[in-house]
Amino acid sequence: MYNKKMHHLGSVRSVIRELFEFGKKRALEVGADKVYDFSLGNPSVPAPECVNQAIKELVNEMPSTALHGYTSAQGDLNVRKAIAEYINERFATKLGADSIYMTVGAAASLCITLRALSDGQDEFVTVAPFFPEYTVFTEATGATLKVVPMKKDDFQVDLVEFEKAITPKTKGIILNSPNNPSGVVYTKETIIGVTTILGNKQKEYGHPIYLISDEPYRELVYGNVEVPYLMNYYDNTIVCYSYSKSLSLPGERIGYIALSDKLQDERDIYACVCGAGRALGYVCAPSLMQRVVEKCLRATPDIGEYKKNRDLIYGALTEMGYTCINPDGAFYLFVKALEDDANAFCDRAKQLGLLIVPGDTFGAPGFCRISYCVSYDMIKRSLPAFKELMESYK
Ligand code: PLP
Repeated sequence: MYNKKMHHLGSVRSVIRELFEFGKKRALEVGADKVYDFSLGNPSVPAPECVNQAIKELVNEMPSTALHGYTSAQGDLNVRKAIAEYINERFATKLGADSIYMTVGAAASLCITLRALSDGQDEFVTVAPFFPEYTVFTEATGATLKVVPMKKDDFQVDLVEFEKAITPKTKGIILNSPNNPSGVVYTKETIIGVTTILGNKQKEYGHPIYLISDEPYRELVYGNVEVPYLMNYYDNTIVCYSYSKSLSLPGERIGYIALSDKLQDERDIYACVCGAGRALGYVCAPSLMQRVVEKCLRATPDIGEYKKNRDLIYGALTEMGYTCINPDGAFYLFVKALEDDANAFCDRAKQLGLLIVPGDTFGAPGFCRISYCVSYDMIKRSLPAFKELMESYK
């Protein structure tokens, strides 16, 4: 026999992928100009020029065997050193090269971290709305994922519900800010609230509760909004970072895990991270990409493009009467559906060529996600369809 759970994961596509595939098929039937695909979070702005430049330099300057060979399992020493120094400079931390473990993106950072921490049987807690793959990643370790219900007015963390969710079985918390799917950045007050609760619970239960900060959207913020660096608020923090969105490199698979230097049992946890990376068969993160990110530590994509898109879609939809928060980060707009059943609402939108994702997938029934990492022109062309959708409910 085979593994039924894996068979299920491999046969049932995610709602998001399903919509994306539908969009491609529909475009062939009715024409690409009549399909408005807001389903995927695939960056729409090109990688910064620094990335292309770095690839060219590396290919021309480094011996091929070194450039394309295995690196240390935890990542090239100079790359890890450079990343640690950059984090220290930005966030006044005291990380060293051995605080960093290079990975193939945030998904791997999370899978490795969860595997490193979990003995099976444990509980991890996250806050709705949340990235649906957290359930897959957590359950793959034998642990369970508990979801704190969302705070519908502002999508910050409901601290009363959060506190209720923490039990003696809680091994860790997964927080994601800027958030997919809401685009919300958790405020300093939220972070202080969350970390105070965790600190008290650790004392009460007599064991560490790890805070896993999933940060692929850290660099995608609009205006002067601060994204608190969780290591500065809570010692038992592990950062799962990725360059997928910050350098528009999702297909190249590169990211890292950073352990706070104040983490309880820090050396043991680092050994567990190395062990989990080994057990999961990652061997090492792509050598060329490790060197590319080292050369592009300070580069960001053209945030202006995303901001233009956000301003256009947020302005137009709220003017039509849709309800949503103006997101401070990431490239998602989280809109209240015009009926209780967001699936029915998204189905009706689909008839008009609008591919948007029902919030149920994110633990947020009654809402839907619009990914605005698309062309400005497509957003403009889609507005009459959004208007027609609104009219159809009147
Ligand atoms: N975490 C969140 C919140 C995401 O939105 C994504 C991707 O969209 C990931 C993790 C996975 O990112 P990566 O492509 O770096 O594995």
